[in-house]
Amino acid sequence: MIRARGLNKWFGEHHVLRDVDLDVARGEVVVVVGPSGSGKSTLCRCLNRLETVQQGEITIDGVPAPLEGKELARLRADVGMVFQSFNLFQHKSVLENVTLAPIKVRGLGRAEAEQNARDLLARVGIAEQADKMPAQLSGGQQQRAAIARALAMRPKVMLFDEPTSALDPEMVGEVLDVMTGLAADGMTMVVVTHEMGFARKAADRVVFMAGGRLVEQAPPAEFFDSPKTDRARDFLAKVL
Ligand code: ADP
Ligand code: MG
Repeated sequence: MIRARGLNKWFGEHHVLRDVDLDVARGEVVVVVGPSGSGKSTLCRCLNRLETVQQGEITIDGVPAPLEGKELARLRADVGMVFQSFNLFQHKSVLENVTLAPIKVRGLGRAEAEQNARDLLARVGIAEQADKMPAQLSGGQQQRAAIARALAMRPKVMLFDEPTSALDPEMVGEVLDVMTGLAADGMTMVVVTHEMGFARKAADRVVFMAGGRLVEQAPPAEFFDSPKTDRARDFLAKVL
């Protein structure tokens, strides 16, 4: 579903992605971990072209990721993204947040878009919040609304960049539960997170990044129980 080859990215002089190769199979859940500043967010943003790479190639579902135009809009629809800061439209209701893009970009009729949106809000457990404004929701509810909004585009892949890092601790579980459900339903997912319990339970593969490089990747049991590199061992000693 995702094939990235030889990604290199610089911000000015700062080389933030170094020769990154990443494959994500259909239905696979890849959890990306690593120290702050290692390039995890940048990698996610490059995968859906929110950032450009100076070198390297990305294909999504066999198609080279486009850089502009209508094709780029389609890519953004196919590759859903959920951020740490929920990024909901604050002046729109939850239901409008979830229907806006499907109507505009996918060309759905309002009635169909609203039915889909209500189904998705039920799926993430906030059906009764549909007509509220985002500010009236808890952080966990807002993040679940953001997930519903991304799912409304019927993406082929979902990218999550630290989706629970901005939440109060008691709300982390409800968001992780929604993500675990998505994974169980076969969604292809790339998840950047510091929630090692989630990584162990939900990941098919853990990818460890450090200094802009993809340093190690392995099934979770192998990565957590017998990391191969000193860098991964140091990282795990700090977070576990
Ligand atoms: P992570 O998500 O692993 O914490 P990031 O991908 O956010 O890491 O950042 C990787 C490196 O790139 C960091 O050194 C960060 O300061 C730098 N960086 C990220 N975004 C920008 C930007 N827009 N401009 C300049 N430097 C950036
Ligand atoms: Mg980040």
